[in-house]
Amino acid sequence: MKIIPIPAFEDNYIWLICEGRHAAAVDPGEAGPVLDYLERHGLGLVAILNTHHHGDHTGGNEDLLRHTAVPVYGPRHENIPGLTHPVGAGDTVQLPELFANFSVLDVPGHTAGHVAYYGANSLFCGDTLFACGCGKLFEGTPAQMAASLHKFAALPDETRVYCAHEYTLTNIDFAKSVEPANAALLQRETRDRQARQQGLPTLPSTIALEKATNPFLRCDQPAVIEAASRHVGHALNDPVSVFAVLRKWKK
Ligand code: ZN
Ligand code: FE
Repeated sequence: MKIIPIPAFEDNYIWLICEGRHAAAVDPGEAGPVLDYLERHGLGLVAILNTHHHGDHTGGNEDLLRHTAVPVYGPRHENIPGLTHPVGAGDTVQLPELFANFSVLDVPGHTAGHVAYYGANSLFCGDTLFACGCGKLFEGTPAQMAASLHKFAALPDETRVYCAHEYTLTNIDFAKSVEPANAALLQRETRDRQARQQGLPTLPSTIALEKATNPFLRCDQPAVIEAASRHVGHALNDPVSVFAVLRKWKK
């Protein structure tokens, strides 16, 4: 199985999960680049997986469906164009053509119904977790988002993390203002800056790397608690308050 990033818009990645002559598209915000890739590589689309309703993740569904009628998996409680298989926590997406199954996680926060797909040692997390950052809270509370990120942190360390945007370098800048002395973070910065200079994606990341460098997954670490407390000018003593402060501070 190969997982291919298809750049879209300014900084989105549409992830294409490929096996043999088959492919599934995760969050196809536009159809054009997906159709191009499928045609150039002689692949047939077998499914669309959406993580949430935002247009930069679902805008290509209808054009893709005009091309090939495939099942569309997406969050049960959101408005997803062409949705055929509404899913939520506990469901499994079976993609026999790819010899893969993905379990569905409910991860509210960025949107109320946001889901993530986990399988084949890979996590498709949409706009919930970003490399060294996390999504904005458009429809959820800090407590919800912190709980969603917690679910990701509980996945195996070696899980590959496929985020939907290339936001890594700006996220690292913020992470450094929180934890300027985090050695793993500084190492990551060197590597990811190099990747961007060569025009390469900084993704996938791994759960281990996120736990070591992403301040939003480190709200229980003394250095992060201290930085957030300093930022608001009073002592914070629970991880959700720390998370809420970081989320506001980051803008
Ligand atoms: Zn979004
Ligand atoms: Fe997005």
